[in-house]
Amino acid sequence: MSIKENIEEIKRDIKKYKTVDDVLLLAVTKTKPVEDILEAIDAGITDIGENKVQEIQEKYDQVKDKVKIHMIGHLQTNKVKYIVGKVELIHSLDRKSLADEINKRAKKLGIIQNCLLQVNVTKEESKFGCYIENLDSLLEYCNNLENIKIIGLMGMAPFFDNPEDARDNFKKLKELFEKYKNRGYNNITMDKLSMGMSHDYIIALEEGSNLVRVGSKIFGERFY
Ligand SMILES: *Cc1c(COP(=O)(O)O)cnc(C)c1O
Repeated sequence: MSIKENIEEIKRDIKKYKTVDDVLLLAVTKTKPVEDILEAIDAGITDIGENKVQEIQEKYDQVKDKVKIHMIGHLQTNKVKYIVGKVELIHSLDRKSLADEINKRAKKLGIIQNCLLQVNVTKEESKFGCYIENLDSLLEYCNNLENIKIIGLMGMAPFFDNPEDARDNFKKLKELFEKYKNRGYNNITMDKLSMGMSHDYIIALEEGSNLVRVGSKIFGERFY
């Protein structure tokens, strides 16, 4: 199947399984060449996700006028300066030191950087993300940073052979999303709930995701 056909299939699934009005299909293009990105754009993709700062830098000039770039991977503080202002949304904000650095760099540029807080629901050690019990404190902290705006949450379920097993994880994320939506922060909104990947996006959509991050199902297997 071609990139275009894969995208069309996922868009049909989104229509069928979504439980909220607007869902963004983020095409995850890590390890994939610019030609693949252009093909995806031709098929209607408006936003791409990358997980490495260096890869964003390498592809940036060739795609920046055609598509919005999202940073979805773990972000080291010393690399923040290379992407602030270049990316539409940082999905992986998970600690105060990182918030400080993003805020500082955004301030220098005179912009506001949109971010999602990455939540590690199951405390998987192999994954990054803020633990649930630390979310209040991190949100409170970010609420006072003038050049960052938190617009939602991002989560990743553990890999299960049966994607159905990811459902509880997504339910929990949605519950947190609703809880913080009603908190009345002045500088934080809960607009984006980023959850669901190639093997579990249908379950995520059923549980209220409005932003699915899909890579291999569009572009094929990745070779590192
Ligand atoms: C790679 C990646 C994805 C996409 O993974 P697929 O299984 O290929 O769809 C989604 N989210 C994050 C954070 C990723 O790193």
